[in-house]
Amino acid sequence: MEAKAGDITVPLAVLLKREMSNEKSEKPDLLHGQASQKKKGEDFTLLRAECERTQETGTTSFSVFGLFDGHNGSAAAIYTKEHLVNNVLNAIPPNVSRDEWISALPRALVAGFVKTDKDFTAQARSSGTTVTLVIIDGWVVTVASVGDSRCILESAEGSVYVLSADHRLEVNEEEVERVTSSGGEVARINIAGGAAIGPLRCWPGGLCLSRSIGDLDVGEYIVPVPHVKQVKLSNAGGRLVIASDGVWDALSHEKALNCCRGLPAESAAARIVKEAVKVKGLRDDTTCIVVDILPPEKVSPPVKKPGKGGIKYIFRRKSSETLSEEHIDRGCSEPDVVEEMFEDGSAMLSQRLSTDHTTSNIFEPYNCAVCQLEMKPGEGISVHSTAIKPISIRSPWDGPFLCVSCQEKKEAMEGKNSRNCRSRVPQEI
Ligand SMILES: [Zn+2]
Repeated sequence: MEAKAGDITVPLAVLLKREMSNEKSEKPDLLHGQASQKKKGEDFTLLRAECERTQETGTTSFSVFGLFDGHNGSAAAIYTKEHLVNNVLNAIPPNVSRDEWISALPRALVAGFVKTDKDFTAQARSSGTTVTLVIIDGWVVTVASVGDSRCILESAEGSVYVLSADHRLEVNEEEVERVTSSGGEVARINIAGGAAIGPLRCWPGGLCLSRSIGDLDVGEYIVPVPHVKQVKLSNAGGRLVIASDGVWDALSHEKALNCCRGLPAESAAARIVKEAVKVKGLRDDTTCIVVDILPPEKVSPPVKKPGKGGIKYIFRRKSSETLSEEHIDRGCSEPDVVEEMFEDGSAMLSQRLSTDHTTSNIFEPYNCAVCQLEMKPGEGISVHSTAIKPISIRSPWDGPFLCVSCQEKKEAMEGKNSRNCRSRVPQEI
């Protein structure tokens, strides 16, 4: 249905959209807390409840929460905590509308993660880190993740959603396949006598994860491209639990949520960490952030009867089956009120940086889609190009484009530019 010239009636789609935005125009109240018990001191958190950005109608705010679980030192975790958010925000042009900002986030997150990794590894420091980055704007929650920290959401209606991916080689067949086909070797450690022990690791390097930021000493197919998931909550709200593997190795999603039910965010985070340490002892850094997304002026955390809903794995990767003991669906009878807006976990930059025609207008057409370097038309290399040589004719429709340096990074991540790795010594996670 198209509006004709001179037609003064407002299209139905616009009316519906207005109604939706009125209904959800009130912003939720956010209450957050965190707790941590240190073993190695390599977990770091970022808690920014009030970030500002400008749009046509003035200044508006959003919130950012991040968890960085470092390994082989803490330099990568600290660097990422300090630079990642700026790199993401710099990938979105200023003064875009809220709708444009929300729909630009998935691509900007990919660009920001890759730029942060590229800049950090250029300093030749060898540590690495997982990242779980949560951006909350109104009722929209966007989660970008690499590694094996995890973010779950319990809606006020009582359903549990996993908003991050698990990039542990042990549980992620798709990632084992990707790493192997890019030239990595995935195997357990062989001890004297030929017995294989421990979790699946990628060689050279011996990392248990298939994605991270940093990790200069492992193959470049250990990529920083995040899984991104975007959902919109109903205005009844919900609770987010963001925690490092120290928590999830000890507690199921249900146990984590149930042990702190009814507690405000700060004490809830402390209770989850305490429970995890009680179960497994302090074997790893154990860190938890709890964020309550509440209807305005509602002060207590969302209350629901335990076990009312079911656990929903929104992400559809096969690896979720390996967590099947936790995959309990009790047949929730209520309509699914958490709306799925976006999800992509592909490691391919050509897929992740491409945008449909509604979103492509938001971005600067000739800037490098990763590092935002300004280039002249014709200078950049199309993200769809398989050769390092630029093709002669350039139009925005061939884009997005990469600078030479980011194109080299892309080729390396796809296993096309294998370089010798220095280390064959297993690294402790
Ligand atoms: Zn670039």
